[in-house]
Order: sequence, then C-alpha cells, then structure tokens
Amino acid sequence: MKAFFADEQRRHDPNTFLSSGSPQPNPEQPARVDRLLAGAKAAGCEIVRPGSHGLGPIAAVHTPEYLEFLENIYTRWRRIEGASLEVIPNIHPATRGGRYPASAVGQAGYHMADTSCPISAETWESALWSAWSAVDAADAVARGESAAYALCRPPGHHAFADLAGGFCFINNSAVAAQRLRGGTERVAILDVDLHHGNGTQGVFYARDDVLTVSIHADPVRFYPFFWGHADERGEGRGLGYNLNLPLARKTADEGFLEALDAGIRRIKAFAPGALVVALGLDAFEGDPFGGLSVSTPGFARIGEAIARLKLPTVIVQEGGYLCDGLGDNLTSFLTGFGHR
Ligand SMILES: [Zn+2]
Repeated sequence: MKAFFADEQRRHDPNTFLSSGSPQPNPEQPARVDRLLAGAKAAGCEIVRPGSHGLGPIAAVHTPEYLEFLENIYTRWRRIEGASLEVIPNIHPATRGGRYPASAVGQAGYHMADTSCPISAETWESALWSAWSAVDAADAVARGESAAYALCRPPGHHAFADLAGGFCFINNSAVAAQRLRGGTERVAILDVDLHHGNGTQGVFYARDDVLTVSIHADPVRFYPFFWGHADERGEGRGLGYNLNLPLARKTADEGFLEALDAGIRRIKAFAPGALVVALGLDAFEGDPFGGLSVSTPGFARIGEAIARLKLPTVIVQEGGYLCDGLGDNLTSFLTGFGHR
C-alpha cells in the first residue's frame, strides 16, 4: 500500500495546550511522524511524497473566509504589540453566524473552537501538505488502487468548514471524501479515533451523499463535549446519514468491535462506492489520553473487520499520541486491514 507524506508536515510544532486549565506541553508533536512512518514501513507501505494541489480540493469543504484566515492570521497576529508567539483565542462568540469581526483577535475567537490548535508561522504550510497527502491517497484509490494511507499530520477531524479545534486545521478526511465523490455517488467516512469526529460530522451534517459514522469515548464527560451524542442524526437531507456510537470510558477490544459491527452494518446499508477511515490510534489502552482500552492486537481486528467491506478505502491518520505502542498500533491496523 502507498503511504503519502511530505516533510513539510513536520514543521508545525505547537506549544500551547491547556488541560483542565493547566498549561501542558501540546501532545500533537512532530515526533509522532517518526513513529507513524516506522509503523507504516513495518506494515510494508511504500512512502510517497504527495504533489501540491493548490486550494481547490480544500476549498471544496472549507469556507473561503476561513482559508483566508488560516493563511494570514499569524502575520496579522504578530503585528499586535505584545501578542503571543502563537495565535490563541481569548474570546469566542456565544453563537456563531452573526457579525464577522475585523480584528485578528476577534477572528481568532470566531475561527478557533478551543486553545489546543495554536497557529504559528509554519502551521498553514504543514496543514496544506497534510491535506495534499489525503488528496493524493484519494486519487490513488480513485485510479484503482484498493487502498491507500495518508499520514496526515496535523490531523483534521475536529476542523469544521470554518472552525479549527483540537489540534486540527484542515479536515483531511473530509477533503479525501469530497475528492472521492468526484468519481462515485456515495462515500462513507468511518471515524475510529478516541474522540468524536465533530468537524467531519459538521461538514456533512446536512448531506445525504456522505455518510458519517463515528465510534468514540462518550462525550458526556470527554472532549469534544458538545458533539458526538447518539441523538445527533443529521439534519435536512442529511437526517439519518450520521451515526454516533459513543462508548463508556475504558471500553476494551470486545466492546469496541461490537460498536464497529453496528457501524459496518450502517455502511453496508448505504452501499457507498468508497470508504474513508479516519484512523485515530488514541483509543489505545496506553495512549496518554487514556479514554478507551483498545489493545495493539485489537487494532488488527479493527482493520480486518473494516477490510471485509471490500470497498476502495482511503485511510487517513487522525490522532494517536506519543507512547510506546504508537507505531506498532499503526502496523497492527494496516496488517490486519491487508488480510482481506
Ligand atoms: Zn483523538
């Protein structure tokens, strides 16, 4: 299987992160890349540098207002006397969609959901290449390869059409799904990250051509709190095209696989022409977030179950943080997936 990755994706190196109000090192570190590359190579992947694709495939899922913000906000922010080294919001609109602020501080609050997606000089370039890795993986599958892996970093599934959040800026899984839509009528996205794929859900919430399924720790007491509940089913034409499968904290392999079965049944009933797997590895029992308890062999079983759908599949890297098992978990998933 081809694995798409560009070295520019390492440059984004965020510092700020607040955990229960307390400053901590940001977990979305460039060092994740080395573990994931090693994991992909151990599974037999050929590492391929993506091409540049401009803004077209990204603007297909994000608003122009937001993309203009992402590209320019760092320079504008640093012109403010005494501004921090990273763009961090300190005020948010209570409801969005009203007046659009002219100031950099106001726009940061408008376009950033939380403090865990700080923007530095390198963020835009890294996010672009991350998205382009997803585009090339989608194109490889559209050209007839049965599967491709995009080592997307920074990750994407918490980014909405006009909102960054949770380490994410451009929604790589959504970009891949939209790209695949060019060649097939229906695309499903299956998100197995520890955290609910709220941005992906948001992008497609009113659409019936992209089914979104997410398995994650119950947001009643877990990030992203405001999304990911079982009663969020879509809206308008999209009603019935979103499935959330929240799990109790510390759910292990069997419980996860049971939810996965339910997700797979829904995907079969949707009869898509292609699948995007939003592959977070942070459901791992040893991940620093500690939300669920999937084992390393458990990821192989998850990969095998998904592969049985026999769909052209783009695997997009989402979360999974620095711990001893990170690379092995990717190897395990990809190896299990390859047994089809
Ligand atoms: Zn996550």
